[in-house]
Amino acid sequence: MISAILPTYNRAPFAFVSGEGSWLTTTDGRRFLDLGAGIAVNALGHAEPRLVAALTEQAGRLWHVSNLYQIPQQQALAELLVDRTFADTVFFTNSGTEAAELAIKMARKYWHDKGWPDRTEILAFEGAFHGRSTGAIAAAGSEKMVKGFGPLMPGFRQLPFADEAALRAALNEHTAAVMLEPVQGEGGIRAFPDSFLKTLRKLCDETGTLLILDEVQCGMGRTGRLFAHEWAGITPDIMMVAKGIGGGFPLGAVLATENAASGMTAGSHGSTYGGNPLGCAVGLAVTRIVTDPAFLAEVNRKAALFRQGLEALVAAHPNVFEAVRGQGLLLGLKCRLPNSAVIEAGYAEQILTVLAADNTLRLLPALNIPDADIAEALKRLDAAATRLDRDAA
Ligand SMILES: *Cc1c(COP(=O)(O)O)cnc(C)c1O
Repeated sequence: MISAILPTYNRAPFAFVSGEGSWLTTTDGRRFLDLGAGIAVNALGHAEPRLVAALTEQAGRLWHVSNLYQIPQQQALAELLVDRTFADTVFFTNSGTEAAELAIKMARKYWHDKGWPDRTEILAFEGAFHGRSTGAIAAAGSEKMVKGFGPLMPGFRQLPFADEAALRAALNEHTAAVMLEPVQGEGGIRAFPDSFLKTLRKLCDETGTLLILDEVQCGMGRTGRLFAHEWAGITPDIMMVAKGIGGGFPLGAVLATENAASGMTAGSHGSTYGGNPLGCAVGLAVTRIVTDPAFLAEVNRKAALFRQGLEALVAAHPNVFEAVRGQGLLLGLKCRLPNSAVIEAGYAEQILTVLAADNTLRLLPALNIPDADIAEALKRLDAAATRLDRDAA
């Protein structure tokens, strides 16, 4: 018999009732160290006092009004994002998938309005993840996501990961945009090399192609810069944001240049909930904290500390782990044993990590994780690996 909850997830056998910082407490009182952070969502950990205050204060006043009216919290968050990024304009959504949908629509409308209605193709890369809508699965194109859901939305093509020759060959008079995550999350914490991103930007400039970056997972301070593309010294034309920007409240956004957004006129797009006062009050609190250069400096310091420990962990358990991947606090452990076995051993040590493709384990702690919790995480990961070494012996 089918479960009351549609069985699309393989769930771990525990539930949490409360959280504080990097810790979660189960219904039966066990405390887990959380290196998943809701898959990079709880950017400031659980129950961060400033976010709780922003939410409860707004909740007592006004939850929702339609986008038919001015929304001051939305205006303030948009202005802050415009001030701190490449973007000239922002549209708010409730999720990353919805941001992907708008990014795709925006790119196609751009070319339509420029008088090139045949420039509709969007190039993406193998290993990509852009969400679960019909457009987003067509963009990613992996069999796991698309099988059985056809016919797929046409106009997408997947190129081999970071393959410059394939990119050059694919760009033509039908290309509307290139879409990619600077660091693939679900794909296994795989970063596109800076040199590739620079070349990509140059090729987009030469051909007028729009560059869409999906920073839903790698953005909002996760890599140690506000957005991951900053490391490569490039800017996109359109960018998707979600996950961390709400700190746990459902919120997403599409940021764009004035040029890229030029087709999006009144009536061309909308959202009932996107940019509501509650979400934007929390998003504003998160973004004010995360955009502080001193905060980002701390993320980089913590990341270096964690990474050093992880390198030692890999060296100590060569039968379990192969390598450390990623940037900032978007970290991956490429595993030798099946990553599902490593995650289970972690559960036994009461530490939460997240699976990714390419037999990788994702470590996405809160960006403000205390140093003591990093040390504790390394201890627990070592205990989990020791458990696996012992079982294998
Ligand atoms: C999670 C994710 C999405 C989808 O976001 P949802 O909020 O689940 O719709 C899109 N792109 C990337 C890179 C993601 O990590």
